[in-house]
Amino acid sequence: MSDVATVEINDAIFCQSHLKEVCAECNYDGREENDSFFGFDPIDREGIEAPTSSQNKEGVYQCKKHGSAACNQCYGWKKQITRARTAAKKAGKKSSS
Ligand SMILES: [Zn+2]
Ligand SMILES: [Zn+2]
Repeated sequence: MSDVATVEINDAIFCQSHLKEVCAECNYDGREENDSFFGFDPIDREGIEAPTSSQNKEGVYQCKKHGSAACNQCYGWKKQITRARTAAKKAGKKSSS
């Protein structure tokens, strides 16, 4: 994944082109990195996605809705990852793909 351009938004890593944590187009998967950053054991879960964001003058991403680079609502990754993990555990053994 080293040749995929990535960006960091409020401590989570996404592909630069689509702001996705898991991106088929970029062939990128940042779950393991983000999971370990937020103190989780990496599991097979849905990837998180950044909402509509834009870069400010310093090149820092901020949410369009609130204009914040550390927005708890839009960039509340830990909460979103926790939710994705719970869903993945509930889904159980559907690890065919
Ligand atoms: Zn992408
Ligand atoms: Zn926001």
